[in-house]
Amino acid sequence: MNIVLLGAPGTGKGTQAHFIAELFRIPIISPGDILRHEIKNRTKLGMIAKNFVKSGKLVPDNVIVDMIKKRVENKNAKSGFVLDGFPRNLSQAKALEEMLESIGKSIDKAIYFDMEEKKIVARLSGRRVCIDCGETYHLQNNPPIKDNICDKCGGHLYQREDDKPKIIEERLGTYNRNTAPIIDYYSKKDYFLAVNADDNIESIRNNLRREFIP
Ligand SMILES: [Zn+2]
Repeated sequence: MNIVLLGAPGTGKGTQAHFIAELFRIPIISPGDILRHEIKNRTKLGMIAKNFVKSGKLVPDNVIVDMIKKRVENKNAKSGFVLDGFPRNLSQAKALEEMLESIGKSIDKAIYFDMEEKKIVARLSGRRVCIDCGETYHLQNNPPIKDNICDKCGGHLYQREDDKPKIIEERLGTYNRNTAPIIDYYSKKDYFLAVNADDNIESIRNNLRREFIP
């Protein structure tokens, strides 16, 4: 089962990635993790990528796609994979498809975690961090016992600059500009599946289970 996950950060797709990976006993492939792994192990691709990273440039798509190819061909991905965090734009989506085709593989499901932007902002902006020990909380999902006070050490909780609604909206804006065309692209495929990411974790899980094991 070769699965691609689509959706903005904050939609809970990471949690469901773990569920799907366990369901099929397949690995989660995340381009960020592969990149770090290749660089750390000083592989040929890792060294190419490192030169770009060192000079503050983005690692080109073809290098990332080659890394994903290597990972997909690894024997622990023989029964499939869950790709999370790639593709992020249309040309990456096409490059991914071509690469898979070149090794006789194809996508079985592209799952889109659909959520209103307003709700994503509310979710992401609910995070609070302890100024003393760094413990993280969430106003809705994991609130501290006492408002604004850390359960562990009594320190004050604050909101990181990155978690302020204005910054999140900017980040999502960039994300949407790049990914909206991919959603459009995948939605025309018969393997496309949209889930309502605003449902609770358990009902999304049940929907996915039903989708895969009818
Ligand atoms: Zn604390």
